[in-house]
Amino acid sequence: MTTRIDLRGMLPAELEELAAGLGEKPYRGRQIFHWLHARRAREIEAMSDLPRAFRARLAARAELPAVQVLDRQVAADGQTRKLLLALADGQSIECVLMIYAGERRRRTVCLSSQVGCAMGCSFCATGQGGLQRNLTTGEIILQALALATELEEQESGGCITNIVFMGMGEPLHNYAAVLKAVRIFEDPTGWGVSHRRITISTCGIVPGIERLAGEKPPLELAVSLHAVTNELRTRLMPVNRRYPLERLIPACRRYAEGTGRRVTFEYALMAGINDRREDARGLAGLLGGMLAFVNVIPLNPVAGSRLRGVTPPAARRFVAWLQEAGLEAAIRESRGADIAAACGQLRYAPREVL
Ligand code: SAH
Ligand code: SF4
Repeated sequence: MTTRIDLRGMLPAELEELAAGLGEKPYRGRQIFHWLHARRAREIEAMSDLPRAFRARLAARAELPAVQVLDRQVAADGQTRKLLLALADGQSIECVLMIYAGERRRRTVCLSSQVGCAMGCSFCATGQGGLQRNLTTGEIILQALALATELEEQESGGCITNIVFMGMGEPLHNYAAVLKAVRIFEDPTGWGVSHRRITISTCGIVPGIERLAGEKPPLELAVSLHAVTNELRTRLMPVNRRYPLERLIPACRRYAEGTGRRVTFEYALMAGINDRREDARGLAGLLGGMLAFVNVIPLNPVAGSRLRGVTPPAARRFVAWLQEAGLEAAIRESRGADIAAACGQLRYAPREVL
């Protein structure tokens, strides 16, 4: 791998410093930031209002890794697309674009934070291959860039409105790189995505949640819960051994209270495992009185796992139980199952491409 720095992973202040270090006025750094994130330049050469000699000096010190799309899949609904991207060291990652019609016209990108994942949740395809490595900030931004290009193809002028870290990996295990990417996404002179529309989803890393609670402005937090007893949760999610419910839930409460933001709990319904009325009551017991929302999602099938999802009526019944118990809950529409782009189906590319 080359040792030149990846410009895409740099904050405006860092680019200003870089420009100054190369003998230019610091405002040139801001110009570079604008080229990279607002105009989505793919080459330093394209930054036409930078002096030619500066561009050459810049290219000697820094680089812009190419966007390499190895595979592109479009779901039958036409509104969900999954990309498989190659990274500079030969690793690959998946990311997803979801276009929602309707009034709010959301354009959501689902980004990966790691190549693979170390958490080993039994129902998740990503977890089955283990962790290869963390992504850099530049590699996180690269995904948005590739998906923005897809969006542009679908609807000219379309902009990414929402970002969710629900792709491959555990974002709170790659905290610094993820948060830096978030700050770049938020910057109004760059991507301009509001912090209220950026969601970090975690399997429940308590120290990470505590750290995230101190970030300003606060981000949206989603916690993958999936079970209401430690016994079952540990079976499904080994991380529960380290951060059991009696530590996780209070950390979520503190997040909600400290930030004033509602915490979303993800609950994948698995037939005969966590779908009984008792489970719904257990959820109400755990989350009662908290600013919380439960996203119920029938488990998506994953090769190599015997766990099964539930039927739509069973999911609706479960949501009704939650609502009767006083919780706010809804079924989350799961997109892209036909191209293995739905929650939990992204994996460290063991399949044939090209
Ligand atoms: N590592 C983070 C974020 C990535 S996973 C986390 O676990 O939260 C994104 C979401 O997909 C999580 O809520 C995860 O529990 C869920 N998920 C994983 N496998 C799934 C499956 N087979 N069906 C439905 N949701 C799944
Ligand atoms: Fe990792 Fe999240 Fe999958 Fe668990 S559900 S293995 S934490 S990506």
